[in-house]
Amino acid sequence: MITELFINSCILITFISVFYTFILNKNIYLSTSPFFKVLVGFWSGLLGILLMLFSVPINQNVIVDFRYVPIIIAAIFGGILSPIMASIIIGVFSILYLGITKASIVALIDVFLIGIGCSIISSTKALRKIKWIHSIVYLNIVTSISMIIVIKDSRVLFTSLSVYPVAIILMAYFVFKYTEYLSKSVKIHRTLKRQATVDFLTGLNNVRQFKKDLNNFSQRAIRKGKKLSLLYLDIDYFKKVNDTYGHSSGDIVLRNLAIILRRTCRSFDIISRNGGEEFSVLLLDCSGSNAFRIAERIRKNVEENKFHISDKSIINLTISIGISTYSDITDNIDNLFKNADNALYEAKITGRNKICIHDLNKQIIDIGM
Ligand code: GH3
Ligand code: MG
Ligand code: MG
Repeated sequence: MITELFINSCILITFISVFYTFILNKNIYLSTSPFFKVLVGFWSGLLGILLMLFSVPINQNVIVDFRYVPIIIAAIFGGILSPIMASIIIGVFSILYLGITKASIVALIDVFLIGIGCSIISSTKALRKIKWIHSIVYLNIVTSISMIIVIKDSRVLFTSLSVYPVAIILMAYFVFKYTEYLSKSVKIHRTLKRQATVDFLTGLNNVRQFKKDLNNFSQRAIRKGKKLSLLYLDIDYFKKVNDTYGHSSGDIVLRNLAIILRRTCRSFDIISRNGGEEFSVLLLDCSGSNAFRIAERIRKNVEENKFHISDKSIINLTISIGISTYSDITDNIDNLFKNADNALYEAKITGRNKICIHDLNKQIIDIGM
C-alpha cells in the first residue's frame, strides 16, 4: 500500500510540475482562453486515468484510487469547461477499462456528478482554499452514497466509508499545498523578472533592458544593413524641480515625461529610463533625418506640456537631446551610445532645450531652437 501511495504522489507531483513549467509565463488563475481550459481538462483527464491504473489496495476487498482529485484540480485552474472535459475522459476510460457493471455505471455517474459539482463550486467567488474544502466535502458525499448503493458486505462498506474519505482528504491537502507553493513561486518568478527589466517609477525599460535591446538591435542593424538611431535625452535643470517642489513632485515629472515619450514615439520604438532624469529612445530602421524629426516632436511636446505637480503648482520644463545614427552618421555601431551622450553634452553646454546630432566629420551638429 505504501508503494502505491508513493507512486500516486509521484504521478501527481510530475503532472502538476510539468503543468506549472508550461504555464510559467501565463496568469494561471486568470487565463480565460478556451485553449488553456481544454489543455487543463485534457491534462487532468489523463492524470485521472493514470491514477485509476495505479490504484491503492487497502486490503483484499477494498481498493482506493484518486481519479477524482484531478477533476478538482481542473475546476480550480480551468473553471467550468475543464472539469467537465476531465470527467468525460475519465468516465469513458473507466467504462472501457472496467466494462459495463453496476459498479462501473455508478462510478460513471459519480464522475459526472463530481465534474458538474466542482464546476459549480469553481464558479463561485470563494477563496481557492474554500473551493478546495467545498469540493472535497462534495466529493466525499457523492462517493459515500455510491459506496452505500454498490457495496453489499457491511464490513467492506464500513472499511471503505472510513478509509476512502481520509485518503482523499490527505491526498487533496497534499495537492492543495503543493499547487499553492508552486503558484507563489511562479508569482515571485514573474515579479523578479519584471523588476529586472522594468523601471519601477515610469514602467519604461530600465537600463539593464536598454543595454540588452541596444546590443540586440545593433546586431540586427548590422546583419540586415538597416539604420538604427538613438536619442539620449535629459531634463534641463531638473535638480531645481526637486529643490523647489520636493522629490515626490520630481517623480511626478518623470512619470509624465514617460507618458509624453510613449505618446510621441512609434509603438515599436524602445523607450528606456537610463537613470535619474535621463531617458533614451532607440529608433529602429530610422535615418538621422527622421530621428531628428522625432526628437524635435518630443522636445516641442515637452516644452508645451504643463506638468501638474500638485493641485496648485503647474510648471513648464524643457529637455535636451543628443542623437546618433548608424550607419549614415555613426559608422561604428559600438559608439552609438557614446556619440549620443556626447551630442547631449554638447546640447547642454550650448544652451539646453535643443537637439544636437553627432556627426562623423563635424563631430557634433548643433541645431539650435
Ligand atoms: P542639467 O540641465 O545640466 O541636466 O541639470 P539638472 O539639474 O537636470 O542635472 P543634475 O544632474 O544636476 O540633477 C539631476 C537631479 O535628478 C539630481 C537628482 O536628485 C535627481 N534625481 C535623480 N533620480 C531621481 C528620481 O528618481 N526622482 C527624483 N525626483 N529626482 C531624481
Ligand atoms: Mg538634467
Ligand atoms: Mg542628468
